[in-house]
Amino acid sequence: MSRTFSADEEFAQKLDAEDPLRSFRNKFHVPLGKDGSSLIYFAGNSLGLMPKAARQIVEQELDDWAKLGVDAHLEARTPWYSYHETLREPTARLVGAKPSEVICMNSLTVNLHLMMATFYRPTKSRFKILMEEPAFPSDTYAIKSQIVHHGLDPKGALMLARPREGEYTVRTEDIVDLIEKHGDQLAVVLIAGINFFTGQLFDIEKITAAAQKRGITVGFDLAHAVGNVPLALNDWNVDFAVWCSYKYLNAGPGAVAGAFVHERHATNRELPRLAGWFGNDPNTRFRLHLEPEFIPVPSADGWQISNPPVLSMAPLRASLSIFDEAGGIEALRAKSIKLTGYLQFLIESKRPSNAGAARISDSYTVITPRETDARGCQMSILVHEHPKELFGKLEAAGVKCDFREPNVIRTAPTPLYNTFHEVWRFATILAAHQ
Ligand SMILES: *Cc1c(COP(=O)(O)O)cnc(C)c1O
Repeated sequence: MSRTFSADEEFAQKLDAEDPLRSFRNKFHVPLGKDGSSLIYFAGNSLGLMPKAARQIVEQELDDWAKLGVDAHLEARTPWYSYHETLREPTARLVGAKPSEVICMNSLTVNLHLMMATFYRPTKSRFKILMEEPAFPSDTYAIKSQIVHHGLDPKGALMLARPREGEYTVRTEDIVDLIEKHGDQLAVVLIAGINFFTGQLFDIEKITAAAQKRGITVGFDLAHAVGNVPLALNDWNVDFAVWCSYKYLNAGPGAVAGAFVHERHATNRELPRLAGWFGNDPNTRFRLHLEPEFIPVPSADGWQISNPPVLSMAPLRASLSIFDEAGGIEALRAKSIKLTGYLQFLIESKRPSNAGAARISDSYTVITPRETDARGCQMSILVHEHPKELFGKLEAAGVKCDFREPNVIRTAPTPLYNTFHEVWRFATILAAHQ
């Protein structure tokens, strides 16, 4: 791949001119820096940019509220009562699920708790949970509290798959080994689709198969994977998954999150769960005080608790339609592989000691896997000296990326709104400061 790239500016401009998705940038508001020019926005892994269509779609709901009051539940242009239905099919396409296997609701960590309430049923012999390290703090808090909730001690019940000495990412074979070794004691394996820190894309299919072979339930946190890489949750037989929508899905701060429950579980009304009225069969939902028996919808909707948060769902509608217009996640992934591959090429070619290996830098090390199928769009750069200073310089030069203690700069060029020329400018600024 790298042989097909070149480090001069004209080449970046040529890649942009040839990019079939280049017009999609115009569908987003790109924040401006102090000098009035567009920031190089590589922070879509924290908060995706605002689709221009979001304002109008939110205003529509506000108008319907103003005009119709309670009647908007059934009479709004997009009736609020079934608002979540508008998200179902585009969401299912993004995660490779059947429409009945997905539901947009709550926020990510809340959904993780709801899934664990169903799928973490520790017994005397099988009570452990396997996660990767470092996991996102919220996931660790949630999982430890789940363990405590069942009267157990996280010290004995939480197992971590770590990178080997001198390495930054976790080898799939090491996860599989832990599963094999502790298979009888593990109740749940919960791994990120893509690790938030290193950008490592895990082999979801392989981990799922290894765990299920030992009778273990497998869930994935797709916060950094959804809208970033193609997923096939139904085919891969994943038991459950959760994700948020404000990162690569560009649905705005605190946007409504998502959950996947494989159909073999989703249709099982016997599964224990934390219930609320919107998880109940719509036919009896309004006979609440007459038929107090909870009858779950035999789909992922059976985990829905409350009525849909329309104002938080509206921008997600706008955003998901952009994914469809762009030709879906496969088309975006094709550009993404090129964009991030180009970034890696430039970082390496602008180095003083370029020998083509990942971990040779004098001043920084790319800790994201080199292999395309082991990463999404994110590239994490570990800075050996004065990391905060370098980060400050990047910010001053109009780059919006983020810093993770103690020394990692995360950059995420996204195919919907970033350009090859931005990648070139970023690499040029980085090289100037190394
Ligand atoms: C972003 C992120 C979260 C955020 O959780 P919220 O409940 O949306 O606040 C959780 N876990 C992972 C892995 C994340 O990347």
